Amino acid sequence: MRGSYRRRLVQGPPRINQFKPSGIPARALQSIVLTIDEYEGIRLADYQGLDHSDAAEQMGISRPTFSRLIEKARNKVAQALIEGMTLTIAGGNFDFVQNLYRCEDCGDTSPQPLGKELAECPECGSGNIIDLGRRHQHRGRGKNKI
Ligand SMILES: [Zn+2]
Repeated sequence: MRGSYRRRLVQGPPRINQFKPSGIPARALQSIVLTIDEYEGIRLADYQGLDHSDAAEQMGISRPTFSRLIEKARNKVAQALIEGMTLTIAGGNFDFVQNLYRCEDCGDTSPQPLGKELAECPECGSGNIIDLGRRHQHRGRGKNKI
């Protein structure tokens, strides 16, 4: 058991794991890490426009916890934008609800149930597909194992 600290439910892995300011060499850039659960907070509150209590419910956490999470997440994104930092989305305390595959040929993304592998792109039939949840796998341990 890992104690009472509950994992936050995240609908699926992010499509992109890193954003980098253009025209600046990587060595001259500072970076900031947005955790997967913070990313989900931004997705729910700012992308989908849910209020804090609905977003909290989707993530399986309390509303005050969500409010702290989203405040921290927005702060990190603002810092990256204003200061021109590389933003990496990784880590955190979460369980994916479902997985996501991206086709490298047509760019289509397909949600998949956890633990179910996708062999080819449903859109174009290509076998050149990437398991977007796999790279976060080491963090996805728990009841929803990928
Ligand atoms: Zn495809």
